[in-house]
Amino acid sequence: MNIFGLQKTTLVDYPGRVAATLFTGGCNFRCPYCQNKDLVLSPNNIEPYTHDEIFKFLNKRIGILEGVVVTGGEPTLHSDLPDFIKDIKSLGYLVKLDTNGSNPDMLINLCNDKLIDYVAMDIKQCPDKYNEVACMSNFDFEKISASVDFLLSDKIDYEFRTTVPAELFSDNDFREIGKWIAGARKYFLQPYRESEGVINPIFAAPKAETLETYVKILQESIETVETRG
Ligand code: SF4
Repeated sequence: MNIFGLQKTTLVDYPGRVAATLFTGGCNFRCPYCQNKDLVLSPNNIEPYTHDEIFKFLNKRIGILEGVVVTGGEPTLHSDLPDFIKDIKSLGYLVKLDTNGSNPDMLINLCNDKLIDYVAMDIKQCPDKYNEVACMSNFDFEKISASVDFLLSDKIDYEFRTTVPAELFSDNDFREIGKWIAGARKYFLQPYRESEGVINPIFAAPKAETLETYVKILQESIETVETRG
């Protein structure tokens, strides 16, 4: 399991916990606003940390950090993810998984095996327009839908989240998303931050009042909806 990035301390990536974040490489999506372009498109150009480096660090931080966030790229692309997380859990850490939801089987198995404690799943768009943002070859919405249904069944603490560039969403898109994930625990809208480092730097940040309109639409079917970031 190659880890290409390590954020030694974060107070914001794992809700309510002091955590470290580990970045895996590669992704099956190509979201144009992706901030992790190098990890997604060319992880092989990045020197990975060794297993020893990661676990030496995690061992030293026992009692200081509460959790570890495993993010990407898309972590569930890696078949050795469960064994890697087992090693992290053996040190007593809580584990949060960030996922695009394209591998429901691994998500469900990780949860059933009690290897993860919190999931943050991206909602890229409403169902009919999903792959306009995900830009995945051989896109299979059923897999996304299965991950959403699993999280909605409340077997694990989770949140949904959406990155919102100004150009990619309308009120109606969020009406459709609200119908789709109605009853979800928590949903966060993250305004896109303009950057030249994304996969396709053509988008603008949304206006605050536009985001507030989206929040109000979503609050009709979801109890906790907030903007973040
Ligand atoms: S799913 Fe996440 S990591 Fe993958 S391309 Fe989209 S934003 Fe980037």
